Amino acid sequence: MPRPVPYRGRFAPSPTGPLHFGSLVAAVGSWLDARAHGGEWLLRMEDLDTPRIVPGAADDILRTLEALGLTWDGPVVRQSQRHDAYHAALHALKQAHRAYPCACSRKEIADSGIAGIEGYVYPGTCRAGLPAGRAARAWRLDTRGSGVIGFDDAVQGRVGHDVEHAIGDFVLYRADGLTAYQLAVVVDDAEQGITDVVRGADLIDSTPRQLWLQQALGLPTPRYAHLPVAVNAAGEKLSKQTLAPAVVARECSRALAAALAFLGHAPPPSMTPARPAELLLWGTAHWDRARVPRARTQPTPPA
Ligand code: GLU
Repeated sequence: MPRPVPYRGRFAPSPTGPLHFGSLVAAVGSWLDARAHGGEWLLRMEDLDTPRIVPGAADDILRTLEALGLTWDGPVVRQSQRHDAYHAALHALKQAHRAYPCACSRKEIADSGIAGIEGYVYPGTCRAGLPAGRAARAWRLDTRGSGVIGFDDAVQGRVGHDVEHAIGDFVLYRADGLTAYQLAVVVDDAEQGITDVVRGADLIDSTPRQLWLQQALGLPTPRYAHLPVAVNAAGEKLSKQTLAPAVVARECSRALAAALAFLGHAPPPSMTPARPAELLLWGTAHWDRARVPRARTQPTPPA
């Protein structure tokens, strides 16, 4: 008998504030997908972006996950302790002539005026070497020849774009000396042996970049499922910036029921109110990716 394919999922919050409904959806969706597949669920604190990190937020998120019954496997990985791994990956890309130093400022890139899907496309100014008298600010990855990088998303269907023309050579190592999200996430997903990335669709445009980077580093590509994004009445993504309220421990059952409903798995009215553990058990037993809606929507408050 062939051995079943192992499943290893993860939740990777940025500790920029407490867990709110938007991040709860990513936590619940990735947890249920992992547990319904008999898989593991790992936790990674994406605490690299020091200017945005809020002291105490990481512990607060962990306490809330515990109160919700979203148990994780193994020790929590903290990106702030993994600089050596990111430097090694950057070094490998330099050696392979895939990464190059860049001296351009944001303004210079904007002045080039090539609009892409996420701001301006990097015009390739420093690809052939730094202009005379200019110092390196960041490191970028060469995306020439990427073509359309597509993938079959378990929720959103077939998606993708031409990274070279829609994004351009993207940053691996930032001008402020911090490793960029794209590099850290690819290195960590591989190192943690992640087979399935389940996260919010606000990150779906990052995935082709991550696939390109995985190829450049010779790393495996996980399967992806991008969950619908929760928005407020103005259509803005729920986030710290849009003042999304924190999930509080005494409201765990309500919050979980609302997250399940948002993901197309409303628990039957006979079940509510139910304890978090019962809701998660029910969610695991009934989890079906095909029921998860694609489009961004506003959560409906539980009755
Ligand atoms: N740290 C990212 C966030 O909180 C998630 C990254 C990921 O899941 O790849 O939005």
